[in-house]
Amino acid sequence: MNTGRIETALTEAHVPSLICALVHLTGDTSLLTPENRPTYDFFGDGQGNLPPALQNTVRKRAEAAISANLAGAPLPPPPDAATVRLMMDFIAGAEIPKHYVPFLVEELGVESADPKRPEPAPVKKRIAIVGAGMSGLLAAIRLQQAGHEVIVIEKNEDVGGTWLENTYRGCRVDNPSHLYSYSFEANHHWPAHYSTQPTLLAYFRDIADKYDLRPLIRFGTSVNKAEWDEAASLWRLALSGQHADSIEADALVSAVGQLNQPRLPDIPGVGTFNGPAFHSARWRHDVDLRGKRVAVIGTGASAYQFVPEIASDVAELTVFQRTPPWGGPTPNYHDPVTDNVQWLLENVPFYEKWYRFWLFWMMTDGILPFVKADEGWNGPAGTIGAMNLELRNALVQQIGAQCEGRPDLFSAVIPDYPIGGKRSLRDNGVWIAALRRDNVHLEQTPISRIMETGIETADGKTPEFDVIIYGTGFKASDFLSTFKIFGRDGTELHERWQGDARAYLGMTVPGFPNFFMLYGPNTNIVVNGSIIFFSECSVRYVVRALTMLGAEGAKTLDVREDVHDVFNTRVDAGNARMAWGQPGVSSWYKNATGRVSQNWPFALVDYWAATLKPDPSDFELA
Ligand code: NAP
Repeated sequence: MNTGRIETALTEAHVPSLICALVHLTGDTSLLTPENRPTYDFFGDGQGNLPPALQNTVRKRAEAAISANLAGAPLPPPPDAATVRLMMDFIAGAEIPKHYVPFLVEELGVESADPKRPEPAPVKKRIAIVGAGMSGLLAAIRLQQAGHEVIVIEKNEDVGGTWLENTYRGCRVDNPSHLYSYSFEANHHWPAHYSTQPTLLAYFRDIADKYDLRPLIRFGTSVNKAEWDEAASLWRLALSGQHADSIEADALVSAVGQLNQPRLPDIPGVGTFNGPAFHSARWRHDVDLRGKRVAVIGTGASAYQFVPEIASDVAELTVFQRTPPWGGPTPNYHDPVTDNVQWLLENVPFYEKWYRFWLFWMMTDGILPFVKADEGWNGPAGTIGAMNLELRNALVQQIGAQCEGRPDLFSAVIPDYPIGGKRSLRDNGVWIAALRRDNVHLEQTPISRIMETGIETADGKTPEFDVIIYGTGFKASDFLSTFKIFGRDGTELHERWQGDARAYLGMTVPGFPNFFMLYGPNTNIVVNGSIIFFSECSVRYVVRALTMLGAEGAKTLDVREDVHDVFNTRVDAGNARMAWGQPGVSSWYKNATGRVSQNWPFALVDYWAATLKPDPSDFELA
């Protein structure tokens, strides 16, 4: 191997990850000293403030070790658990609590390339999965690997779910791609640090092909109704669309997602506008925005992405903001992954694993304390604790720098609610830059109605527009709103819920045997991590629950009401301590009753531990 190639690639290495990879390559742990430990800050380059001399030493040692490895030198024995713990604390720049170790060892994949691969099930079942998005594909892969027969019902003509439906301009994931991917399909070739929608759709399409899932999927088909047949111990599904039919299954897995039923605002006159008007998730690519007067309603995650993209095309853009979003500094948000970085990820043993782990810690449980309320906190308005205040001060400073010379804009874009109250977005400067443009106006006067020609605001003004775009989000708390599910005694799931969806571990509901939800109630994560991780935990639980049935000689499992209730009480108490659970903070995380029905309030490690293995005593088995 040309050492020049290695040397060049190393110039772009994430040095803390490289130090850990070096332990695998050489067995030498001498760099893992307290003095060398990275220290991270909000606006750093992610290199943990390592002195240049140390970085050079690391690169030199890495060059020799990688060169030897590529020439065929064998790897030393893998680091033992104590060394792995040392490496974790080192790369995170923090003491990681002991109970994280098994969880992180699994995440790291040190002991196995696919530690979550299921064991063969003792009894083969027929499983119906609703939805072929990220979670549905995953469930299909794992349930098949366990030996079950799988059938997937998908309303669309293709796989991909949200990444198929959201095609608005600028659409991309706001979790790093090296994290927002299946643990067993890491994909070194992500072209960007934060993948665009076409890249993600291609990823999920490739997964469907690689695992030969398409023959299992009934595309263009919807589930209208699912009914539990007590005598036969199975689910009967009524389907409509291309495969209008009825099917039976031993177990039913819903993978319909939380964020795919567009929500139009409850503003009088919606629907009366004469020109094109569309929701961000139903983007009208046939509408040419060039030279048009465009109104955007909403400043959430979707608008934050598409406003900067369309701002330079349109003649005039008015962004109607009800509540400003918080944006966290993410300088590489739109950056490509360079050839050098790709090379390192692909060729340096364990570098990709440690880089993923580093992202995992920095972007997940490591930041949870910043959005948790301190008991008895009496600090400034819009804060819930000392760390939350520290983060607020840092972000205000960052936003202030972007608004220089525009005090009007600065006061308009600083939220008054605590960071974490709503989803924080990825700020690389393009949002404020768009709002600063001469042809862009940020309007904060409430909308009183939509008219044929435009929008009337509460001050009586009636600006005219050619196009209205609704970036107004989704009916997130209307779980599983597209079909009816009748459980034991004919109870319909939504009647049970009465607008307040609850489940045990987000998955099971008393009276609905052998029924599981993925990304169900209280499994959304706000700041800490990738929803793919959550789905992997849930799917493992589902697979093991079905295995448990076989092992216990039972056909059905039905979660106990008391277990379900205790769990929900604990979740509610947890959410009450988080930024998004504070009174006065409104978001799609809360349902019509005001309860936080979407979010998981604890750490990822807690969900991982809770879903490792179903406890038979949580269920009535029959
Ligand atoms: P959203 O976060 O719910 O934002 C909706 C926006 O519309 C908010 O600014 C809201 O204001 C405003 N709005 C709603 N009704 C209104 C009304 N009647 N009058 C004025 N304004 C109104 O929706 P979203 O942006 O589509 O994002 C939803 C979620 O999808 C995100 O939180 C995220 O989880 C996910 N998402 C992810 C990505 C990504 O990963 N890249 C991208 C897009 C979306 P208020 O805040 O005042 O309610």
